[in-house]
Amino acid sequence: MTRCELSELSDKSYDVIVVGAGINGAGAAQQLTAQGYRVLIIDKSDFSGGATSKSSRILHCGLRYLAPGKSIWDFVFHPTKFFLACQNARKSMIARSDISSSMKELVRPFRFCFPIYKSGPYRPWQVDFAFKLLDMLGPHDNPLEYQRYSGKNLDIVPFKNWFRDHENLRSVSVFKDYQFVSAERLVVDTIRDAADMGATVRNYTLMQQAKHLGEGWHVTLKDVLKSEEVTVKAKLILNVTGPWGDQVNQTMKSGIPNKVIGLKGAHIVVKLPEEFSEWGTMVINRANEPMYFMPWHGMHYIGINRTPYDGNLDDVKTEKEEAEWLLGEVNYVFPPLNLQRKDILYSYAGIQPVTFDAIDPQGNREVVVHDLESEGLTNVLMLTGGPIMTYRLTAKELLKEVSKRCVPTLEKQHPSYGPSEVSQLLRNGKASSVSMNISEDILKRIIVEEQPVSLADILLRRTGLGWDMDQGESTAPKVANVMAELFGWDQQRKEDEIQLFHQHIKESYQRP
Ligand SMILES: Cc1cc2nc3c(=O)[nH]c(=O)nc-3n(C[C@H](O)[C@H](O)[C@H](O)COP(=O)(O)OP(=O)(O)OC[C@H]3O[C@@H](n4cnc5c(N)ncnc54)[C@H](O)[C@@H]3O)c2cc1C
Repeated sequence: MTRCELSELSDKSYDVIVVGAGINGAGAAQQLTAQGYRVLIIDKSDFSGGATSKSSRILHCGLRYLAPGKSIWDFVFHPTKFFLACQNARKSMIARSDISSSMKELVRPFRFCFPIYKSGPYRPWQVDFAFKLLDMLGPHDNPLEYQRYSGKNLDIVPFKNWFRDHENLRSVSVFKDYQFVSAERLVVDTIRDAADMGATVRNYTLMQQAKHLGEGWHVTLKDVLKSEEVTVKAKLILNVTGPWGDQVNQTMKSGIPNKVIGLKGAHIVVKLPEEFSEWGTMVINRANEPMYFMPWHGMHYIGINRTPYDGNLDDVKTEKEEAEWLLGEVNYVFPPLNLQRKDILYSYAGIQPVTFDAIDPQGNREVVVHDLESEGLTNVLMLTGGPIMTYRLTAKELLKEVSKRCVPTLEKQHPSYGPSEVSQLLRNGKASSVSMNISEDILKRIIVEEQPVSLADILLRRTGLGWDMDQGESTAPKVANVMAELFGWDQQRKEDEIQLFHQHIKESYQRP
């Protein structure tokens, strides 16, 4: 999957150009290439540089779909809502079973707990019922191991004494869920598989504009690092640019109504006391939204507060007020922690691409493939919604829609859903943690085979070293040495790259 010069793409023809290499672009490129389509997949930044690397990284069991939001009567009076919720929960359970068995290296199980209060929105029987339902809906090969503890049995939860309002705490539900150890490597491995089957892959390549000229699309691509431009041809454009989706549509035709809403979600990363280690907690916060405390590199990330976002999509970070709001919620859930702003080790925020809903400013949770024919764009499909966990189902849906409009020109192949050799080496023997084995040999393979151009690409999106407590500070020089050797950087260039990395961390990931 080496990175070709942009000029090598000039005037090339493809069946499908996949614009955006987040999880959904990667999944689509894999399915389309396997089906025999000639595919080009590009991203204006690094692979998974958008929403995919800023998520809460949970391979959810689907419980949140069964939480009606306002009251349980919502489902009773709106049975269609209940039916849809069950459908989504089933999809989550299928994805959980599928990904946790085929991608063991890139996900890990953890114990998730959910406190149930007398004054809370859900009664214990409702939570028991939701888990029964999940058991019934899902495949049965990977049980949720659900238990509800109260009284003396609560000792099983090592941090039980940190919960607020003990008299009011009825019980705590505990179940097994999964965390993506690296959603970023999931993207890279999926793209590697597409490339192995013949897809052309290039990061730091922007789709600048596209014109439909009789026989198909003429798409202008720009190398964002060198400002070079070329034109390629494609029968169909797949717009999987997540929160950028509407902006990309405007480069083909102005005036297309909005299809996507960006919801900002911020996380803060803190070190919690030993009792919390390797446990996750889910609560319903005071804005009546689920909030997660997730174990991470010996720390916990905590989020999120979902708010509609119309700012600059290329400059998203946790703001001071968001961090303070999150701290307030943490201290409400676990008062003895009494966390302050100085306790925040770092932060990150992302924009979730949610399907536009004229009535609800928070959008709706449906994953929708839009055919833009009705907007005057022939053979352009666009995706809205689409979490990481169900990317394989979404990719198959995208393939189905592409197949209705365009026939493949090459032989069919079988996609591989397992980890790449590089991921296996990185994760060898680390199944229960999120850390990776890094050696010079592995770094060299990453540099040669996976198109990183900066330290941030390697530290944040190929190895996870940038998510450690020191945010890659101790490993950056070592990685820079290997990059310098392979890219021919001189001493000055190496120092500049390290400096650029620190600047990037400071601007986008640090304590607000
Ligand atoms: C805070 C938060 C928490 C979340 N938690 C979870 C979770 O726990 N579990 C879960 O499954 N999902 C979660 N999600 C949802 C999930 O992260 C997203 O739905 C998913 O990553 C979207 O992937 P995507 O490929 O559609 O978009 P993205 O990952 O955003 O990828 C789009 C890509 O398009 C590229 N692009 C944009 N414009 C152009 C252009 N003109 N030319 C070329 N490339 C372009 C961008 O650079 C970007 O890399 C969360 C999201 C957020 C923000």
